[in-house]
Amino acid sequence: MKRRRRAVVVVCDSLGAEQIDPATAPCLSALRAAGADFSAARSVFPSTTRTSSASMATGCLPMAHGLLGNTMVLIENGQLVRLSAGKPDFLQRLQRATGRTLRRPTWAERLAGQGGTIVMSNVSPGAAYLQDPDGFGHVYHRSGSRGPGGQALADGLAIEVGAAGDRAMTDRFCGEVLRERAPALAVLWLSEPDHTAHHSALGSSEHLAMIASADACVDQVRRTVQALDPGGDDILLVACSDHGMETVGRQIDLDALLVQAGWKEGPESSDLVVAPNGNAALLYFAPEARSRMAAVQRWLQQQDFTGRVVSGEALSEIGLPTDGPLGLALALRCDDAVNAHGVMGRSVAVRSPFSSSSAVGCAQHGGLGAREQHPFLCLTGGGFRSGQRSEPVSLIDIAPTVLRHLGVAADGMQGRPLEPP
Ligand SMILES: [Zn+2]
Repeated sequence: MKRRRRAVVVVCDSLGAEQIDPATAPCLSALRAAGADFSAARSVFPSTTRTSSASMATGCLPMAHGLLGNTMVLIENGQLVRLSAGKPDFLQRLQRATGRTLRRPTWAERLAGQGGTIVMSNVSPGAAYLQDPDGFGHVYHRSGSRGPGGQALADGLAIEVGAAGDRAMTDRFCGEVLRERAPALAVLWLSEPDHTAHHSALGSSEHLAMIASADACVDQVRRTVQALDPGGDDILLVACSDHGMETVGRQIDLDALLVQAGWKEGPESSDLVVAPNGNAALLYFAPEARSRMAAVQRWLQQQDFTGRVVSGEALSEIGLPTDGPLGLALALRCDDAVNAHGVMGRSVAVRSPFSSSSAVGCAQHGGLGAREQHPFLCLTGGGFRSGQRSEPVSLIDIAPTVLRHLGVAADGMQGRPLEPP
């Protein structure tokens, strides 16, 4: 009998490539040495988890799949409305506002009837469901688990965000998903070290312990895969992060600053609406406010918190759409400052009404900083052999690589399949 090919993807949320060393993450270090280690892997922009999840699942940039951040602005009843894309009901509101969820098919849709997809995720519900928003496969999450057609599953995932939940989820993933159910694609998305780093310092003992926790989970998956496929031909194992992190050096209230400068009518006004995304912000303009856009851009360029402001056609150069109410993209200023634990990378962050995770001294992501844009990406099995690979690659290349391994078409994806040597 012909053996069926499979792919396993493990995501250590927020674990930057520079944070992996043999002392803290022995298993990941060994895995990178044993596999194809893509040292120039890049995130998408904004480098937030929900955008990353949609980009990994569709093999497309935000401009194509339409999920523009952890916070998004939708047009509801003719008004710009700011929403957290992490809430369980976000996808219904996105569908009501735009007529669809993601604008491109996910890997779960492409693999329906081709061996299927099972996702287990311990990050936000929004990021989990964006792996498969229209219910083609199975998604397990603490907020509710769903099978094909969106049917609620009785065997939910009763865990909490954090290391203990990640461990329990990994146990179940290795036993039930990898050994018993054996779907064509199995995705495990760990909440650490992201969850802890948002409330502690990069390189602190708390943060290092969570890297070690993620490392042990990846190792359990690696050992399971090795036991199932000792030759390494049939199962492609992708270990990666969605983005890295920067230390928050300063937090700004962009709404208040725009109101104070006269560009926005009030803190809750819908003329100019800011979608804060950690170390980035997207500015949406109602039709009556678009005449202000160029002046707002000039003003932003003069502010000491600004790294880069992008508008018009140039939005497509950073992967964003040019055809909607989005007017300006702001990446906050970053530098190479080193924190008290010797970890390099500092950014200004934007305060968000939906999150308390941008405190000064703690870690954040979302922008274009060197660290937050540098996830790790390591492939083993499926013909990938040991070696450093320095070509530029991106999160959107993972889905076409997985589909090529599985022998399923990846037409319409913006990413390209990574080639074994
Ligand atoms: Zn993330």
